[in-house]
Amino acid sequence: MGLRVLFRAIIMGPPGSGKGTISDRISKSFGLTHLSSGDVLRANIKAKTEIGLLMKSCIDQGQLVPDDVISRLILGELRQMGSSGWLLDGFPRTVPQAEALDDAYNVDTVINLDVPFPTIQERLTSRWLHLPSGRVYNTSFNPPKVPGLDDVTGEPLTQRSDDTPDTVARRLKAYETQTQPVLEYYRNWIVGRFKHRLPFEATNLSGQMVGCSRLVKNKLP
Ligand code: ATP
Ligand code: MG
Repeated sequence: MGLRVLFRAIIMGPPGSGKGTISDRISKSFGLTHLSSGDVLRANIKAKTEIGLLMKSCIDQGQLVPDDVISRLILGELRQMGSSGWLLDGFPRTVPQAEALDDAYNVDTVINLDVPFPTIQERLTSRWLHLPSGRVYNTSFNPPKVPGLDDVTGEPLTQRSDDTPDTVARRLKAYETQTQPVLEYYRNWIVGRFKHRLPFEATNLSGQMVGCSRLVKNKLP
């Protein structure tokens, strides 16, 4: 049997920062399962589950869904995955969610995508999505091979109902007030946990990515 490395990571960044796109690439390269809270919620809405029906208006208004609902949903998905490596995208989004995750799992690294808000506004309006798989396209810099159709399945692409300018503004606000504190939470947590070693040199993947090694270095004397 080959060597199996259990790696568990979180990707963070404002709405539209490219979490979905980058996560696909990272999870393929490293053999991790990509789990996106937004994709899970949209699948629930599409399937008209009780949670989906209850949460739809929250999401369409650009507000976060309640912590206990999303924590139960995502921790349930992770439990079903058993002992596999994963990359979490969109969860945790608040400090209570981060604490709930911490209680259940050891997370190895946190990646933060740092993209300026004006760039985001522009990107989101040209974003197209393949709903069943979560694959994302952008008409200006990552277009599908055939306009309007998914590269893999050929099925039609859709735009997200929460990608309108007003809702995007509210999502950015929610990010600032509720999600940025999670980054601070992990900065402190990582420093405490890995004070005497810098284990993630190799995961500093360049570009706009801030690997955990850099977070650690920034905080060390
Ligand atoms: P991106 O543009 O990178 O997909 P996003 O943050 O705008 O990021 P999703 O992650 O797809 O969008 O989430 C869409 C909506 O689902 C959020 O605006 C929010 O209402 C809800 N949601 C998703 N994850 C969470 C979470 N962890 N806690 C609370 N609400 C969430
Ligand atoms: Mg996403």
